[in-house]
Amino acid sequence: MNPKKNADIFVDIKPAPKVAAESVRKPDWLKVSLPTGTGYKKVKNIIETYKLNTVCESAACPNRGECWSSSTATFMILGNVCTRSCGFCNVITGRPTELDLDEPQRVAEAVDLMQLSYVVITSVNRDELKDGGASVWAETIKQVRQRCPETKIEVLIPDFCGNWDALKTVVSEKPDVLNHNVETIPRLYLKVRPQGNFQRSLDLLRQVKEAGLVSKSGFMVGLGETDEEVVELMKELKAVNVDLVTIGQYMQPTHDHLNVERWVHPDTFNKYREIGLSMGFENVFSGPLVRSSYHAGEQSAKLVSA
Ligand code: SF4
Repeated sequence: MNPKKNADIFVDIKPAPKVAAESVRKPDWLKVSLPTGTGYKKVKNIIETYKLNTVCESAACPNRGECWSSSTATFMILGNVCTRSCGFCNVITGRPTELDLDEPQRVAEAVDLMQLSYVVITSVNRDELKDGGASVWAETIKQVRQRCPETKIEVLIPDFCGNWDALKTVVSEKPDVLNHNVETIPRLYLKVRPQGNFQRSLDLLRQVKEAGLVSKSGFMVGLGETDEEVVELMKELKAVNVDLVTIGQYMQPTHDHLNVERWVHPDTFNKYREIGLSMGFENVFSGPLVRSSYHAGEQSAKLVSA
């Protein structure tokens, strides 16, 4: 698709205003309900009792009320301190102190108690570890499988700094879906994912598919990309045979994080989805509040039956 043609595709979409996050209110379509109810309290209680971390809390996810109220959450393993300093992410950056080797078992117990038919597990980056935490990843998948054999497991993994042996350690446990988010278009990597590498992320995704797993990736919009660059990014993901794609609106977690450059209209998200599906992805989940773990079982339902 040439750039002119792309521009034509989006011409009928109401242009999103370019904004500085602190000076403009969120549009109505990003308003969410407050966390309440017994489901929410139950999830909170299990997380606290088992001393677990969730990306729902650490990343200040706007969907926490909805997800926790329907008794689901995304576990974040390997601690809550990340060795990287991505411009969009609310997880604390620092030098993690230790490895919690009981964590895989506690995650499995929590999955069991929450009676999850589909679980998403992610982690911080542990670049200071030789294997980037891959052995803990593998042990977590094993423990969940052992305790909850019916539960489908989706893992959202880091790039292990391109240590492909570490990747193999995780892949060999055969999670039902393996997700690695590219997060943004390549032009914005320096400001959005300074320690990331777009080509390395594509290489990872290619290998996941070559290993025969269901592969998934996602990215945010509102960080300074154009609609044409969104289409180009989807083409790059398709070229490495990614099965599932998620696209959501970036929301600035604090004033220390990157500004929101535009609020993307829901109609434009629908257009991204249409274009992605026409490229041949198995599914494209695209919407202002979409996060990679949002309704994850539904996203992969065609490929993984829970
Ligand atoms: S979308 Fe994912 S990260 Fe956000 S609250 Fe739901 S499960 Fe947690």
